[in-house]
Amino acid sequence: MEVDETKCIGCGNCYDICPKAAKIWEIKDVAHVLDLRYCHVCTLCAMECPVDCIKIIRNAPEE
Ligand code: SF4
Ligand code: SF4
Repeated sequence: MEVDETKCIGCGNCYDICPKAAKIWEIKDVAHVLDLRYCHVCTLCAMECPVDCIKIIRNAPEE
């Protein structure tokens, strides 16, 4: 999962929808991904993003 920070408008939808938001997302001016080990790739954040700047990549979590 990747965020294109140049397109992000910082609306916070990804944070609001994510079941693990407090561990994964930090919204300042734009969204930052803190720790993807907690992401279970439910894709909710990508569906809620109004500017489609979240890219879901299904691969093994990094160690
Ligand atoms: S895919 Fe699901 S768990 Fe992962 S960051 Fe998005 S909303 Fe959160
Ligand atoms: S939903 Fe998309 S535009 Fe909104 S803060 Fe998250 S990544 Fe940025």
